[in-house]
Amino acid sequence: MVSYKELGLVNTREMFAKAIKGGYAIPAFNFNNMEQLQAIIKAAAETKSPVILQVSKGARNYANQTLLRYMAQGAVEYAKELGWEHPQICLHLDHGDSFELCKSCVDFGFSSVMIDASSLPYEENIALTKKVVDYAHQFDVTVEAELGVLAGVEDEVSSAVSHYTKPEEVVDFATRTGCDSLAISIGTSHGAYKFTPEQCTRDPKTGRLVPPPLAFDVLDAVMEQLPGFPIVLHGSSSVPQEYVDMINQYGGKLPDAVGIPEEQLRKAAKSAVCKINIDSDSRLAFTAAVRKVLAEKPGEFDPRKYCGVARDYMEELYKHKIINVLGSDGKAE
Ligand SMILES: [Zn+2]
Repeated sequence: MVSYKELGLVNTREMFAKAIKGGYAIPAFNFNNMEQLQAIIKAAAETKSPVILQVSKGARNYANQTLLRYMAQGAVEYAKELGWEHPQICLHLDHGDSFELCKSCVDFGFSSVMIDASSLPYEENIALTKKVVDYAHQFDVTVEAELGVLAGVEDEVSSAVSHYTKPEEVVDFATRTGCDSLAISIGTSHGAYKFTPEQCTRDPKTGRLVPPPLAFDVLDAVMEQLPGFPIVLHGSSSVPQEYVDMINQYGGKLPDAVGIPEEQLRKAAKSAVCKINIDSDSRLAFTAAVRKVLAEKPGEFDPRKYCGVARDYMEELYKHKIINVLGSDGKAE
């Protein structure tokens, strides 16, 4: 048993309380490799933004959970080396799907876990979430739960259709489970293809897809039921068209990839939404950089030469999100 406190990590409780009061949101960035982690920490340290490092089940399978844990521990030290005196870094399990997985992360030094039982019937979701909460809270680890179903594909999590969260359920759910934050479904979606062309309109000038707006009425109703309770948005990448274009220009094939417009996320960040998950955007930035370098320099075979550029792209992206979308810069001096 390792406590996250020994690793210099923090849970989400204070982060979220401040974010709701201050009208901003904490970035939750997924990581699978060193370059991604370096980019996240550099961006957070330079902007002095609290940050949530997310590890999905897929990341654990890809990179090994032991290695990821020590990387997160190293991230705290790296942040201090970069001059960030009191780094506020949370290590969070994204989409935990069983009590055993959540328990293993709590025991292993994670400061926060998500139990996603949203695909189960309501009462079973409550029972499993409460079991995780009861365990995690003994060690002051915070728990995110989910009500409603997001569409899209993200590692092992996928659903063809979305079901908005039912505002009439949230009080009962939060009270009976004791969860610390709640992921809701208001039309965000996992992956780089958040909407089908049929769900969108097409901008006649650019030919690009214009996605349907988020269901802010559902968010408002949830906030009315649970005033001041931390709300989480998953699947909130914007799928920047500059990266999509670059990928397509240099041999890739991502037709009609589309995300959530940043102005909608900006609006959400000012509300009780205090954690916004962004994964696909950094995947796109990484891929765009690698494709560009390899296309322009076919003789290059030093991974540092293209992964290094990918790291720069991701760092720029993370800073942009922190400063221009979430507003979390300067909140962790
Ligand atoms: Zn998610």
